[in-house]
Amino acid sequence: MITVEHLSKSFGDFSVLRDISVDIKQGEVISIIGPSGSGKSTFLRCINLLDRPSGGKIRIKGIDMLDRHTDVAKVRQKMNMVFQSFNLFAHLSVIDNLTLAPMKLLGKSRQEAERKAHELLRLIGLGEKYYCFPDELSGGQKQRVAIARCLAMEPEIILFDEPTSALDPTMVSEVLSVIRRLAKEGLTMLIVTHEMDFARDVSTRVFYLDEGAIYEQGTPGEIFGNPGREKTKAFIRRQQSLYQRLFSADFDLYSLNAEVESFCSRHLVPLKSRHGLTLLIEEVLQLYGTSSSFFPIDITVNYSEKTGQLELLLESPPGSANPLELQGEDSALGLAIIRNLLLDREFTHSDNRNILKLYLKNP
Ligand code: ADP
Ligand code: MG
Repeated sequence: MITVEHLSKSFGDFSVLRDISVDIKQGEVISIIGPSGSGKSTFLRCINLLDRPSGGKIRIKGIDMLDRHTDVAKVRQKMNMVFQSFNLFAHLSVIDNLTLAPMKLLGKSRQEAERKAHELLRLIGLGEKYYCFPDELSGGQKQRVAIARCLAMEPEIILFDEPTSALDPTMVSEVLSVIRRLAKEGLTMLIVTHEMDFARDVSTRVFYLDEGAIYEQGTPGEIFGNPGREKTKAFIRRQQSLYQRLFSADFDLYSLNAEVESFCSRHLVPLKSRHGLTLLIEEVLQLYGTSSSFFPIDITVNYSEKTGQLELLLESPPGSANPLELQGEDSALGLAIIRNLLLDREFTHSDNRNILKLYLKNP
């Protein structure tokens, strides 16, 4: 379906993609993961010539995209792209957003295009929003409309560039479920995403991009369960836990909570456990906040999808006390709340750091 040979792309002297060769079969769902700046967007944009490659070959269903006789617009009809920022036409209603291109480019009658648009909107759960304008929709709804608009062109290949990264955590799953559904229907898809659980679940193959090359590729089981190379391992590990350093007692609790919230929704942590975790973090940090000797604190949250176990690790400088053993009336209530939330705890100290490990009860 898609053949890429020795693809390279430079912007001026700056080489963004180096020698990428891949073969993608019909019906495959490829997740593309990797650090930001590694060339993921550029890779997708080169495939449909939104960025012109500097070298190499791209064939879509056997058609040479770089041949100057190729009608690129026509190939793009079969290979549509969904962007992070939706790109809906703000001045057009939902239904007009969906019918414009099919009428103009596929030569459909208004009636036919509208019939199809209605069908697609029902499919994505937005059957009631035909006549709304984009700014009357939530982010998740806009992105679903953008996906429907893409489907209205009856593509065989869809390229998704971080389709959920502009969304509030609460809206991510509604968009992911629509994409999951398309995967089941056998569309060929390339999805750049930071949603690791989703990637693991939906893809046939995963590409890990690093510095403009496919550093490692494999099945989701291989890449997420048993990556072979160092950088992939480090990347996957980072994605599976949340890590933050708090430099002083004046740290930003709101931003920490937002990170925790987004981590939990990425990993589909159940709501009750999330509340427990947020409460635990707040209460524990209250205790830590009583003394500057506790800072800087390195805080890590680990979540095991298999067992549902949440762990909170707090690492502080050597010599600091165990905050759970603070005495005094001020801390009594906090300590009681914390105890109530925990399954188990462990405090270890070594020459270079103290580590408090807290295991949350599974509600
Ligand atoms: P990713 O999507 O993995 O975050 P991108 O493909 O967006 O990465 O970008 C890869 C690198 O190419 C980045 O360093 C980025 O700054 C650079 N880059 C992307 N587009 C352009 C452009 N139009 N001009 C110059 N540099 C660009
Ligand atoms: Mg990008």
